[in-house]
Amino acid sequence: MPDLYKEKFKQNSWYINLYQSYDIIKLKKAYKKDRKNKGVISAIENVYRNVDNYMNEYRKFEKPKITCEKGCAFCCSKEVFISDDEAKGIYNYVTKNKLKIDLNKATLQAVSKQNLPLIHRECIFLDTESKECKVYNLRPLSCRMLLASSEPKFCQDNKKGNPFYFLLPKMENIKTAVWNSSISGVLPAMILKQVQEERMTK
Ligand code: SF4
Repeated sequence: MPDLYKEKFKQNSWYINLYQSYDIIKLKKAYKKDRKNKGVISAIENVYRNVDNYMNEYRKFEKPKITCEKGCAFCCSKEVFISDDEAKGIYNYVTKNKLKIDLNKATLQAVSKQNLPLIHRECIFLDTESKECKVYNLRPLSCRMLLASSEPKFCQDNKKGNPFYFLLPKMENIKTAVWNSSISGVLPAMILKQVQEERMTK
């Protein structure tokens, strides 16, 4: 973040908006360039690094406060939309780290998980024991932008709680800018697409 904005960031939302527009345009350009010169994986990793930096800045001045805790998987039973590039990033990570994908579960969730019983809605990348994300470093933008601001107890109790959660506006803008016109869909369907594509190349 440029120094000019660092100080103003604390004081005035107008500067926050200005910084956000400047930053998103820069990020979009870098994404396109990286995608062309370094490849999809490198490009998407760079976006996530930028988002993490933004989150670290936000945490210093956060209003409302983020109350998400490690091991809380409340949001991981929700529908998650990802872009084709994000699916490639995750699939690359999964393959490199020899992680198993539950293809039956992915198929079950591929159209929509909203009508499934709660027990079958957990994300295919959620460790059911520890309740941690197995692809945390490469988790998609949709997962990074959904944040709780209510007490953690509202996210517990087997997903029956009623937490207050919010989306950071900038994250939504980043998502729109980065996804652009690329194909997107629900996470299990997009991952199955990667599996099929890989099978076809063998
Ligand atoms: S990718 Fe990770 S953070 Fe996102 S829903 Fe799945 S388990 Fe949760």
